[in-house]
Parts: sequence; structure tokens; C-alpha cells
Amino acid sequence: MSFCCGASMIGTKGTLKHYRTEVHNVPLLYCPVCQRIEVHYKVESEYEVLAEYAHGDGESEIDFQDYMLEDDEEIFANCVSVEAEDRLSAVRNQIDLSLDLLGVAKQMGDKRWQTELKRRLAVMSQKLEKLQRRNSKGTA
Ligand SMILES: [Zn+2]
Repeated sequence: MSFCCGASMIGTKGTLKHYRTEVHNVPLLYCPVCQRIEVHYKVESEYEVLAEYAHGDGESEIDFQDYMLEDDEEIFANCVSVEAEDRLSAVRNQIDLSLDLLGVAKQMGDKRWQTELKRRLAVMSQKLEKLQRRNSKGTA
């Protein structure tokens, strides 16, 4: 649960603007009292990586949903339902798959697809790093 000025924040989704890039469907937390909006803490680092990449690629808009592994229920749930180990292997699989596809995209000379896959890989590596950090903390 996240709190702001004593009120519990409400989970929602919305569009954020990073320079000239609009990022749609970002999981957000919203304070009903002071109307503060922040990126949901579970996806904060992934959002930053994706927004930075999309901006660098000159995209005018992008859908955060396309780069997520978790579904809404998982993000907005108060407890983690999936074991960290399972999550790690799921992310690793996603990375392997994206790397395979990147090879295919290169063979096909599909630049747009390559760009998308590189962004996806950046988000996934961010996620992997975070999970590994969390795991090592848990066993220490
Ligand atoms: Zn507030």
C-alpha cells in the first residue's frame, strides 16, 4: 500500500509525457486528496528505461502495456503472488525470445522491429536486474 498525505493512493492507468514522447497505459498511483500522480513503484525503473529509449528513438507515442510481463492484477495487488524464482525464469525466457527475434529481424532487415525489440530488451534487463537484487537481498 502506498500512502500520500495520510490517504491511501489509488491504482490507475494513464498517459505520461516524457519530453515529446507520450507513454500510454502506465500504471500509476493517484492521491485523491492532493491529486498527486506518480508512476507505480513496481514499474518505476522499467518506465524510466522505456521512456528514455522511446524518446531517444524519436517515438511520439508508445504503449507501456506492450513491454510488460505482469498483468494489471499483479501490479495492483498488494502482495506478490508469483514466486521470485518463477518470475526470474519468466524474464530470462522473455530475453532469450527477444534475442532470437532480434536475429530474425536483422535477417529480414526490419529496422522498426529491431528498434522495438531493443527497447523490449532494455526493459527486460532492467526487470531482471531488479529481481536479482531482490533475490540476493532475500537470501542474505
Ligand atoms: Zn496526497
